[in-house]
Amino acid sequence: MKDATPKTFPDLPERLAGLDELAFNLWWSWHPEARMLFKMLDRQLWKESIHNPVKMLKELPKEILEAAANDPEYLRHYDAVLARFRHYVGTRGEWFRENISDPDSQPIAYFSAEYGLQHSLPFYAGGLGFLAGDHLQECSDLGVPVVAVGFMYPEGYVHQKIREDGWQEGSDEILERDATAITRVLDESGEQLVIRVPLIEPDVHVAVWKVVVGRVSLYLMDTDIELNNPWNRTISARLYLGDVEQRLRQEIVLGIGGYHVLDKLGIEHAVLHLNEGNPAFVLLERIRERVAAGMSWEEAAREVKNTSVFTTHTPVPAGHDVFSFPLMEKYFATYWPSLGLDREAFLQLGINPQAPEAGFNMTVLALKLAACRNAVSQRHGEVTRAMWHGLWPELSKEKVPIGHITNGIHVPKWLEPKMMLLFNKYLGPDWLANHDDPSIWEMVEDIPDEELWRTHFWLKNKLVNVIRERTRKRWIEDHISPSIILAEGAMLDPTVLTIGFARRFVAYKRANLILHDRERLKKILNDPWHPVQIVFAGKVHPADMPGKHILQEVFNAARDPEFGGRIAFVEDYGEQLAQYLVHGVDVWLNTPIPPMEASGTSGMKAALNGVPQLSIGDGWWLEGYNGKNGWSFGGGENDGDRDRKDAEALYELLEREIIPLYYRVSGHGVPTGWTRVMKDTIKSNAPRFSARRMVKEYVEKFYTKALRGLEKG
Ligand SMILES: *Cc1c(COP(=O)(O)O)cnc(C)c1O
Repeated sequence: MKDATPKTFPDLPERLAGLDELAFNLWWSWHPEARMLFKMLDRQLWKESIHNPVKMLKELPKEILEAAANDPEYLRHYDAVLARFRHYVGTRGEWFRENISDPDSQPIAYFSAEYGLQHSLPFYAGGLGFLAGDHLQECSDLGVPVVAVGFMYPEGYVHQKIREDGWQEGSDEILERDATAITRVLDESGEQLVIRVPLIEPDVHVAVWKVVVGRVSLYLMDTDIELNNPWNRTISARLYLGDVEQRLRQEIVLGIGGYHVLDKLGIEHAVLHLNEGNPAFVLLERIRERVAAGMSWEEAAREVKNTSVFTTHTPVPAGHDVFSFPLMEKYFATYWPSLGLDREAFLQLGINPQAPEAGFNMTVLALKLAACRNAVSQRHGEVTRAMWHGLWPELSKEKVPIGHITNGIHVPKWLEPKMMLLFNKYLGPDWLANHDDPSIWEMVEDIPDEELWRTHFWLKNKLVNVIRERTRKRWIEDHISPSIILAEGAMLDPTVLTIGFARRFVAYKRANLILHDRERLKKILNDPWHPVQIVFAGKVHPADMPGKHILQEVFNAARDPEFGGRIAFVEDYGEQLAQYLVHGVDVWLNTPIPPMEASGTSGMKAALNGVPQLSIGDGWWLEGYNGKNGWSFGGGENDGDRDRKDAEALYELLEREIIPLYYRVSGHGVPTGWTRVMKDTIKSNAPRFSARRMVKEYVEKFYTKALRGLEKG
């Protein structure tokens, strides 16, 4: 099996041939100097391609490439970046090799329904996907041997457009497979590798694609090929299908099809890691293969269990995938005998003792067949142990064998390049290599307040400019009502204290909490001396009506003249907009109903860039807050009056602490009280909530143990 050699750019001069390889390895996306290499070629096209080097190189006129190939300054930069890149992909990564006894161990196979890597690859809906993407990027940096499996969704998630009445509509946008950093995986005859997935009639075939993430390969399955009938073709059309049966078929393809992809590629894996329950059928297929080789169900299940890791993300029972028994029979009746099981024993694998009639639960399946189990924050660990106590009735709640590894973010991906320069200047030469070491971050104290503030203010200006440019573009292209243009941020002012709220608009996140008392909010926003503005962004799942109503309420507030243009809703939240927002706002607002935010990660991205949290005590913030690095409020029991109390606590904090602190400026025009909080935010949150700390924990707690496969259970 081989990959299609990219060679996609016939006009690329020989001297710049390395750009081809670089464009097809997402390594470029978390190395600012590599991004600069593309940007230097043609700033305008770089912008128009929305920072997608494959698309840009395809469209770039030959003369520009030839000029670059003869420009000594460009070539110097090119040679330096290529040397770094070659060194990176040519070595194995220090940490894993130095810390794990057997560096030649087979890889960990990582399965996830979503990956959030870069916005030109729209394979994510939200946090779960970014967790997976950041995990792969960090594994690449640390040299942890991982191979990943997922879907290619040519239609991605929703492409958001807001109607004039504030209602979200989807718009169609099909991924240009050949204008992104995805390559076809080829079989021996040079054709794209296609694999048949068992269990589904008529047959489903998947074409295999590959994305290279530094040292890690991510294989993507695509059912949208001619061999498949129309219903089968749409299995991987987009993320999260409304139809339950189609979702079951999607999960069969993800788990069982994914297993066959690795098998066909000859990639043997020692450990399996499931990101959420959607791919859990892969556990069955791992067992089936062992049973076919002669093991009993018990032996095979024990071996698979001891080498499998399951990360659960969902703190509410309704959030887990459950399939009806008749549906399971329809697809699995011919399968369970091959596991050495009868119907009863098979269905039992997915039965939640607290709701035995509900159907076959994918989380239960994963909890039963993976011995390494974790939630994604300390609080979420407690909630999860209580939720699944029924599976271990003989143990006390605290002893339920589900631990926690708090989520983290990939630092080079989410740190803004100007902030990175600042850290390079003041944190010493090795800060990035050791960024999960809290002592490195003490040196944040050495950054002069003025420099920190100027950098932040520059980023805030950039954010406001980006938003205004977007509104201008919509104004020109769509000829829509001016009130929409205002609602989308045309009146934002970079000198004003700016609150950011960007996340999926799902009811529990309470995007509208801050609108609870509109009169009080109006006073806060429109204060003539100390005004405040709020920038909202976020998509709603297309089937989520309550979520759509909340979005409409927020959008209509943004349009309401009473709020004076100080509320903005920015369309089509995705990776790129998230970057601008977490870099550029002043405060990051987070108002979930506890304990529903299992962890949350967007706040970690903001904190890394010096943007403090204004958050309900929930998820990661219960671990992140230290009294000096932002604000924590609410989180009480629900006595029917919780929203009002939480909103009041929020207004209080704004009026009494946050607004005065922000506008209290010293002689040099620097709010030094504010930069104090910024520094505490960076120092305390950056090392702890890094994907580096997180991946090391996965390795130390689970991967090494599972690699040995020892502990019999
Ligand atoms: C980080 C991120 C998320 C997850 O944010 P939460 O804090 O978990 O809500 C969702 N979408 C995008 C685009 C992100 O970058």
